Amino acid sequence: MAGTKTYYVTTAIDYVNNLPHIGTAYEKICADVIARFKRLEGEPVFFLMGNDEHSINVKREAQARGLDPHVYCDQMADQFRQIWKQLGISYDAFIRTTEERHAKAVAELFRRIHENGDIYPSKYAGLYCESCETFYRDKDLVDGNCPQHGTPPKWIEEDNYFFALSRYTEEIERIIEDKRLLILPEIRKNEILNILHGGLEDVSISRSSFDWGIPLPIQPDHVMYVWFDALINYISAIGFGWDEGLFSQFWPADMHIIGKDITRFHCIIWPAMLLSAGLEVPRMVFGHGFVFLKGEKMSKTLGNVVTPMDIVEVYGPDALRYYLLRDCSFGKDGNFTWENFLERYNGDLANDFGNLLQRVLTMIRRYRSGTIPSPRGLEAEDEELKKGCLSLYEDVRGFLDPMGGDIDFHLALARIWEAIRHTNQYIDHTAPWTLQKEGKEERLDTVLACAAESLRIIGTVLSPFLPEAARGLFEQLGLHERPTRLTREAALIWEHIPPGTTVKKPIPLFPRIVAEEERPETSEKSQKKGHAKQDDEVTIHEFDRFDLRAGRILEAERVPNTEKLLKLTVDIGETRTIVASIGKAFSPEALRDQAVVVIANLKPVRIRGILSEGMILAAGADEALSLVTLSGKVDPGEKVR
Ligand code: ZN
Repeated sequence: MAGTKTYYVTTAIDYVNNLPHIGTAYEKICADVIARFKRLEGEPVFFLMGNDEHSINVKREAQARGLDPHVYCDQMADQFRQIWKQLGISYDAFIRTTEERHAKAVAELFRRIHENGDIYPSKYAGLYCESCETFYRDKDLVDGNCPQHGTPPKWIEEDNYFFALSRYTEEIERIIEDKRLLILPEIRKNEILNILHGGLEDVSISRSSFDWGIPLPIQPDHVMYVWFDALINYISAIGFGWDEGLFSQFWPADMHIIGKDITRFHCIIWPAMLLSAGLEVPRMVFGHGFVFLKGEKMSKTLGNVVTPMDIVEVYGPDALRYYLLRDCSFGKDGNFTWENFLERYNGDLANDFGNLLQRVLTMIRRYRSGTIPSPRGLEAEDEELKKGCLSLYEDVRGFLDPMGGDIDFHLALARIWEAIRHTNQYIDHTAPWTLQKEGKEERLDTVLACAAESLRIIGTVLSPFLPEAARGLFEQLGLHERPTRLTREAALIWEHIPPGTTVKKPIPLFPRIVAEEERPETSEKSQKKGHAKQDDEVTIHEFDRFDLRAGRILEAERVPNTEKLLKLTVDIGETRTIVASIGKAFSPEALRDQAVVVIANLKPVRIRGILSEGMILAAGADEALSLVTLSGKVDPGEKVR
């Protein structure tokens, strides 16, 4: 009986001479989405990440800090794992190339390749960039410098062992053209085919000038070339050379996700090594684009957020995950700018998504005491919402399916946001607040139920992308302890919320970010006077500066061409005109004679051409607003304090 093959996804392993930056994070986030989505599909998944420790630069960095390289690598591994944890990266295993199991796998693979007659000694002389750990030919250099680093390569001459890569030129070409090895995006595949058409040279796989690395089994005073060693991590982590049963369950890899600069290693050298050893080649290599920090490198407007990685700390992992996945196209290069980040965060996350959850929960709490009602017969607009939601999963799946020729995280998220905006519009159109006022209870049940179902499906499909936000959504909907698990099946059925499910009090998942420059006058003045920085506290004297008064609404009318603006004439001991955004919750008729509390000395502003002199106090979301009022009989103009 054949067992189910595990879906095996990997990322590049990282050099540990630097901590992860936004580009490294991007790769891991993308791989994490694939892994999580496959799990949602119900497939067994194995997601591998790790560190590449046998680089001469790693040893140098350790020496510069006065540390034994192993100690340094241990410390870095802890820090890397901590960062991946913070980002919500759900890897199943973490391989380090200094581990014993890795050494075993390397020895076994080398033995097989050697036995196959593909390893031979020769003299190597050539130009070598130590930062890349790569040899360059004259024609690859830019003004005599390394094309990646812009530094002059070193002339190296030594006795090396070589791998007979050139023997595999035609076979690799064939497996790429047959799509036994799928290379995405197309542009990377064409680059690789071009290299193959130009013919391959054998590659040096050992070094005798230093000792940081895995000793060559046939010549222990040589160490293995770091790239030859590193590529083997993809099989050393899953049992090759130490547990053949385990290995056969995972290999070949379904997807290697790597940066576009290292496709040559993954699409030519790696398959050749595997073919020589009689192993299967990976099924797919995806060479993603880079994320560049454009414009200002550090945020000037977000206070304690200095670099993009700080976003995770301050605004949570999903803020960064969303931005990178939505704003960059996976196969192409992307740019990080603070302006775009703020726009995406406030517009898509805080506004579209956060508000939707908030308004649905608020209405269910207000109109149905927090219990999600059952629908009572669907009308056309309900059916339309249902249809859009039920096709969401398959649409998103299509964008993530490499067999479609690409993987498009940004389009998948755009599709999910289409569902979010559709649900927001659905609520605007069905206007539950009006249904409630008009006593249309059955219709109100249906609308609230449909909105909740829509949120549940959105949360399910969103979970591989923004796992923490999805968890928050499920918790607030009261579904986290229910058998409504995050599965593909659950995303494909409507009316899946168990009767009697009770929602929680809404907590904003993405509180709006107010950039420093937009913030209303902060405590700058008081700081200058030497006060401690206590932004949230006010003195009684400061409070006294607010002229709060009891008022009575005399007249109310809608401001033309607006959704929620009302022009009010209010008696506060004198007559004032106030423009208030309370028109979603109240009709002008309902407000006449209403007692209110007014801030009378608010700086007047002109709104839609009307001078507004004051503000009405209210609480709650747009359509479920509550006016602040006074319990007893108070004359207009009385001071409130
Ligand atoms: Zn270089």
